[in-house]
Amino acid sequence: MVGAAIAYELSLCPDIGVTVIDRSPPGQGATAAALGVAMAVISHKVKGRNWRLRQQSLQRYPTLMAELEALTGQTIQRNTQGILSLCFAPEDLPRWRSLQTIRHDQGYRLELWEPEQVRDRCPHLSTDGVVAGIFSPQDFQVNPTELTQALVAGAAANGVEFHFNQPVVGFETKGSGEEGAVCTAVHTATQTLDADAIVLSVGLGTLPLTQTLSQPITIGPVLGQGLRIHLDSPLGKPEFQPVVNGHDIHLVPLGDDDYWVGATVEFPPETPPEEALAMQPEAERLEEVLRGAIAYCPPLAAGTVTDRWFGLRPRPQGQAAPVIQPLTGYRNIWLAAGHYRNGVLLAPATALAVRELLV
Ligand SMILES: Cc1cc2nc3c(=O)[nH]c(=O)nc-3n(C[C@H](O)[C@H](O)[C@H](O)COP(=O)(O)OP(=O)(O)OC[C@H]3O[C@@H](n4cnc5c(N)ncnc54)[C@H](O)[C@@H]3O)c2cc1C
Repeated sequence: MVGAAIAYELSLCPDIGVTVIDRSPPGQGATAAALGVAMAVISHKVKGRNWRLRQQSLQRYPTLMAELEALTGQTIQRNTQGILSLCFAPEDLPRWRSLQTIRHDQGYRLELWEPEQVRDRCPHLSTDGVVAGIFSPQDFQVNPTELTQALVAGAAANGVEFHFNQPVVGFETKGSGEEGAVCTAVHTATQTLDADAIVLSVGLGTLPLTQTLSQPITIGPVLGQGLRIHLDSPLGKPEFQPVVNGHDIHLVPLGDDDYWVGATVEFPPETPPEEALAMQPEAERLEEVLRGAIAYCPPLAAGTVTDRWFGLRPRPQGQAAPVIQPLTGYRNIWLAAGHYRNGVLLAPATALAVRELLV
């Protein structure tokens, strides 16, 4: 998704010719597993780079979706009814109140609901142990696969060239020393493509590719599992179906009485990062997440689980997520990777940041 967002944003710059190389078809990798929940206003980031990126994404998302739908004719499933986060700890309330004030001053809305208001608006939720509901009407959820496909279609319509199912295996470089080296071409298994500038937006492919450039950047996996549940009727009020979060477990309404539930956060055992990529999900962890969701939304217990999956989130080691910066030692290679738990939210802002760096 991040690479597709960058390709689309750059396709709007008349002087840049863009070629995308991906070892898979569009929307694989971590993106295929993501729930697409975009927590910007409701996040506790209030200043600095991380908040700036969230804010830029919040601003860019509505125009981006409208542009893509007009350009491609594709519809992108999304939920714009907001995010409701259940607060179970009275000691957290002052922090939420202070966030509410900050967001108000920043021009955003955040509502603090009493448990009775939660029950009234979302009768499917149990308010056992709930001390407040934090409702963020401007946050949203989007289908990551559909958005990635629309970004690819939009970029292609604007002239971007795509080479799918082609792993990048190496680079042609020249020069070195204080001025830095320059990358002149990219090798795939079957061809060599000349380039003036390279953006590495390869998630967990970052370490092996930066190793070939002798500047290893470690981005390791954190596994996440999710599942899809079908019910016989919608939960709560059909006209009000926000994304719900309780104890870091999301319940995402998809329409047609389908819901996503997730996700687990599973760290790899102490192994070298290359081996960690082979890590496998623990079934019991997903059951725990389902039990947690049923605890705050009891009617889910009557649903049928129709799908289960897992993916590997790309998490930078030794630096904050995401990594958007030049690759040390090179004058024309940039990294845009390691978005960890927020790649869907941050993809549009990342694309704008990369455009700024390149232009
Ligand atoms: C269960 C789960 C739930 C999540 N929920 C959310 C959520 O609600 N909200 C949110 O914002 N984020 C969420 N995330 C995180 C989100 O999925 C990631 O941050 C995001 O998908 C990262 O996107 P990306 O494009 O950087 O990486 P990826 O989607 O992993 O894409 C990397 C791409 O690089 C390509 N590649 C790698 N190596 C090479 C190579 N050598 N040559 C060519 N191509 C290469 C791959 O084929 C792939 O297409 C979730 C993740 C998981 C696992």
